[in-house]
Amino acid sequence: AKKQGGNKVILYDDAINKEKKQRLRIETRLRKAIGNEEVEVYYQPKINAQTDVITGVEALLRWTDAELGFVRPDIFVSVAEETGLIHSLWELAMRKACSQISKWNENRLEPLSLAVNFSAKQFQDPAYLVGRVREILSECQLAAQNFEIEITESTLFINSDETIKALESLQEYGVSISIDDFGTGYSSLSYLKTLPINCLKIDRSFIQDIQEDYSDSEIAKAVINLAQSLRLQVVAEGVEQEYQKEFLMKNNCYHMQGYLFSKPVCKEEIERLLLNINEQ
Ligand code: C2E
Ligand code: CA
Ligand code: CA
Ligand code: CA
Repeated sequence: AKKQGGNKVILYDDAINKEKKQRLRIETRLRKAIGNEEVEVYYQPKINAQTDVITGVEALLRWTDAELGFVRPDIFVSVAEETGLIHSLWELAMRKACSQISKWNENRLEPLSLAVNFSAKQFQDPAYLVGRVREILSECQLAAQNFEIEITESTLFINSDETIKALESLQEYGVSISIDDFGTGYSSLSYLKTLPINCLKIDRSFIQDIQEDYSDSEIAKAVINLAQSLRLQVVAEGVEQEYQKEFLMKNNCYHMQGYLFSKPVCKEEIERLLLNINEQ
């Protein structure tokens, strides 16, 4: 029994070492990819399901490395957060996405809004972040009113006084603030009354089982009601099936994102989607 236990420990150590090595390789390759601007931005449409109009897009990073192949964004984003690369990764995403949306908006009657994911790690120096957001928006000539920040609840509680001040000043500037993956955090809800928040994004785990799981559908309804009574916007993410869309509409949630409408796609593909809808 002892021997077996010993082997298990060795196997476990091996697995950890392998994982560490892999993350180190990702770091090295990612640093290079950021320098060469090989990391791409994909866009997932946000739909108003009442009108079927694309109201905006969420920018999502995509990276296929020559050696590592396709690396999932949640994996390389977490490596970037650990190694400080998140700042340059974010700069790259912001510059590409803001200039792209600004270009599209030149030819549109109703401007698209752009949502960018912000990592909690970026709020270690909130004042700097606010300055950079304003600089990039003005360089790219994207109106602050057409820009959204997606953060998770945990961001609000890191460095919280300064973070909240930074979010307040961005909101005053015209930017909107969405809480991503809403419902998966463990914090109390009282912050919703006092903090600078415009929108709740219902996590896709609650949307997935809306039909089979009574508590999930109740949670989704509760989030929609909560948003309504606090005068916040609400967006459902991960909408894949028609019945999910119907459930949401029946419960007064009209803003949606998900494979039912479109996966995140490259800029050429979004251009096609935008054109098709205009032609209808
Ligand atoms: P997220 O911000 O919650 O993004 C939504 C994720 O759900 C995306 O995964 C998207 O492709 C996926 N998704 C959208 N609709 C559906 C659907 O109908 N069904 C299913 N099964 N999935 C759907 P993705 O692109 O793999 O990104 C994963 C996570 O990586 C993101 O989660 C976000 O946390 C992070 N991430 C991606 N890009 C960035 C970025 O530029 N900055 C930061 N900080 N994080 C990013
Ligand atoms: Ca997001
Ligand atoms: Ca999300
Ligand atoms: Ca997420």
